[in-house]
Amino acid sequence: MALIIDGKKISKEIKDELKEKVTALKGEGKNIALAVIQVGEDPASSVYVNNKKKACEYIGIESLSFHLPETITEEDLLEKIKELNQDEKVNGILVQLPLPKHIDEDKVIKTIAPEKDVDGFHPQSVGALSIGQKGFVSCTPAGVIQLLKRSGIEIAGKECVVIGRSNIVGKPMALLLLRENGTVTIAHSRTANLKEVAKRADILVVAVGKPKMIDSSYIKEGAVVIDVGIHRNEENKLCGDVDYDDVIEHVSAITPVPGGVGPMTIAMLMNNCVSSIE
Ligand code: NAD
Repeated sequence: MALIIDGKKISKEIKDELKEKVTALKGEGKNIALAVIQVGEDPASSVYVNNKKKACEYIGIESLSFHLPETITEEDLLEKIKELNQDEKVNGILVQLPLPKHIDEDKVIKTIAPEKDVDGFHPQSVGALSIGQKGFVSCTPAGVIQLLKRSGIEIAGKECVVIGRSNIVGKPMALLLLRENGTVTIAHSRTANLKEVAKRADILVVAVGKPKMIDSSYIKEGAVVIDVGIHRNEENKLCGDVDYDDVIEHVSAITPVPGGVGPMTIAMLMNNCVSSIE
């Protein structure tokens, strides 16, 4: 029987541990504040922002909300970020992506002070990760590492294959698995013989953004499968990049969608906020 990795339970454990730490920090007179910037009215962004605020409230982190109009100029947005960089009360700054087309996301990310970059997207944070130095790590891949560790799954010495090479999931995922001493392969849209490559994996992390693309023909018998993908199908039901029903008989452990990787992202964001003060 495969282990179904319960991301809801593990994320709750992490949030409860953080809540205790934050209470202790408050006892020492240290408060943590996260500035959350949303530009425009994208409904999905509003849901994400609200969930982040709720998580802050649960843990005891102050969330400072800046809801800016869709029409804000790039210059004014950058100015706001610079102001928050200088504000000693603010420990972390998060700009909800995507941004309206007239604003350059890269410029925005680079303007956030690296010591407040709780999303881990700043080039300095990414660079630190790649050379094994301290810095904020992108939340979703950091959450995957926690899922593996807290499920007792050994990474060291294992063949790890990451399908997907995006800056926020695939690449940092591969670097984190490497940091944990996995033997890491990154596969992507131009990989030849993807099935053969995927079948090498003891730990297969899938972040392709294609609903149910990975079926049992990509899986080595007994592999651990982590499904980062998240999609809504025609019946409005959530599914991942992995065809769960097809692979379940062939894996030793798997993350479901929903309830696997998804809940971990916010938990790790909260973790980054707490470590910003530590
Ligand atoms: P992306 O579109 O930026 O990157 C997808 C990657 O998959 C690319 O690097 C591409 O090379 C690769 N790819 C695409 N088609 C492929 C194919 N046919 N064969 C092999 N590789 C292929 O996506 P992303 O931002 O990395 O997100 C991936 C998935 O994870 C999406 O479904 C996204 O919604 C989800 N996601 C979930 C969370 C979460 O919190 N659970 C967070 C971020 C992203």
